[in-house]
Amino acid sequence: FTTEAGLYTASDQIVILTPDNVDSVLVNSTAALVVEFYASWCGHCIAFSPEWKRLARDIKEWKPAVDLAAIDCANEDNGPICSRFGVKGYPTLKFFHAYSKPDSKGQGFREGPRDVRGLRHKIIEKMETHEEPWPPACPPLETASKAEIDNFFETNSVEHLALIFETSNSYVGREVTLDLLQYENIAVRRVLRTEEALVAKLGVTDFPSCYLYYPSRNFTRLHVQNEARTFYTYALQRLPGVLRAGNSPPVTSDLLKNTTEDQWRPFNRSRVYMADLESTLHYSLRLELAAHPVIKGEALSALQRYISVLAKYFPGRPVVRNLLKSVDTWLKGQNDTELSYSSLRDALDNIAEVPDAALPEGVRWVGCQGSMPHFRRYPCGMWTLFHVLTVQAEEAAGKDPQEVLQAMRSYVHSFFGCRACATHFENMAKDSMSHVGTLSTAMLWLWSRHNHVNNRLAGALSEDPHFPKIQWPSPELCPSCHGVKKSGEHTWNQEELLTFLRSHFSSEHLLSDYLE
Ligand code: FAD
Repeated sequence: FTTEAGLYTASDQIVILTPDNVDSVLVNSTAALVVEFYASWCGHCIAFSPEWKRLARDIKEWKPAVDLAAIDCANEDNGPICSRFGVKGYPTLKFFHAYSKPDSKGQGFREGPRDVRGLRHKIIEKMETHEEPWPPACPPLETASKAEIDNFFETNSVEHLALIFETSNSYVGREVTLDLLQYENIAVRRVLRTEEALVAKLGVTDFPSCYLYYPSRNFTRLHVQNEARTFYTYALQRLPGVLRAGNSPPVTSDLLKNTTEDQWRPFNRSRVYMADLESTLHYSLRLELAAHPVIKGEALSALQRYISVLAKYFPGRPVVRNLLKSVDTWLKGQNDTELSYSSLRDALDNIAEVPDAALPEGVRWVGCQGSMPHFRRYPCGMWTLFHVLTVQAEEAAGKDPQEVLQAMRSYVHSFFGCRACATHFENMAKDSMSHVGTLSTAMLWLWSRHNHVNNRLAGALSEDPHFPKIQWPSPELCPSCHGVKKSGEHTWNQEELLTFLRSHFSSEHLLSDYLE
């Protein structure tokens, strides 16, 4: 059995069923599951798989209550499982209640739209009518009455109650309730427009709209750019005292200072710092590459591409640019099929003494500081460096839209120390990097792949609780980048995004604080 042969991999946030795990996943689970039975050769399944992956990303926060799974029925080892569940055509979707019995065949998912929105709504309907026992992590989804809200704080100890006022055909309230299920100190309830006493009491006139209700019986309207799911969810997750379960509470800068070995450097979270870019170069060129005493073949080409884009586009101080250019010239002059790291190191340390050329030693993380020594830093710097380079390539009217992305791809593939990261990145590159045909789509490609990674890692152990992974940029950082479709779905405004990326990562906008 290999996951590679199927349409999904472990990084898709979809449980991949196998003969070994099928019973432990489906039987007696505390969460409900929706399983896609597919055959990897079936054209419909191939066409549907991106939608299933998008859905998995979209409802990732709902996992403790309802999770997605998939099984490749074309894999002979899996055949008996697919027969056991009575699957005859592909793709077939089935819903399994939490605490399903070993003989459960799952329930059919009646026909309907097979896009993310339609599937998400259908999942909500299934969850609402979930039989007993109810999945313990799933909050109540039914509408709340005035009496229930009046007594809410007598039986609940949360600090925030968010009320979403909406019409009966709206799903926003239930979606936001599920989006917040892993967050502590907040509860979300939907209230229908027809709950007139409550509507009148709060003076609600817009549907949907969201109000925060407090134990003191005070209430305020939640101000968002758009009255839609993504905007409510983002704002509610960031209320004071609201924390993702398992994360430690926020600490002050003073405490942050004590948990890091370096002195904490105050910084502006909405800016990019040259100190991070130079620290990334130091780490990559003096530490990461040093793990390869001899560089040859594919790795040598990767190094040449990397140094070449740095020499062309790194928007650094003249002294650093001079050094990168001199290393690039030196590397282009090497005709051997292999290179020793020590000779590269000599070039980096400028033993030839090219005037005014140097790369400062050591790291001084600023925008990439983490609240603990194992958070952020180098990988944060690596992403930032390549976003900057994609923007610089356009600023410098580069000719080849693939140049920076391919340099990143081959560097990550050959050298990036996090090998699992390299595999994931290579999979994304294989999927779609070759479609990039302009310098601006290169910027957007990297932005969207980085958001994929953010989505996958949100809530992971490697996430710094003080720097939660979000779909970036936030509505605060770039309000005009966000919009909503008529259907209420979130949409990115690509033109606004490009304008934002061009400015955020532009050379003039880089801050030079904390440089030596
Ligand atoms: P990062 O994700 O490192 O982002 C750095 C900064 O970039 C953010 O603070 C923000 O200002 C900005 N930013 C965020 N999102 C975007 C965006 N979409 N577009 C532009 N700018 C943005 N870790 C794993 O555990 N598993 C992996 O598979 C994995 N793969 C990786 C692949 C690559 C190529 C790289 C460079 C890193 C990978 N990492 C992986 C590390 C992980 O992505 C983070 O870099 C790390 O957890 C540090 O996170 P951070 O909070 O500093 O933010």
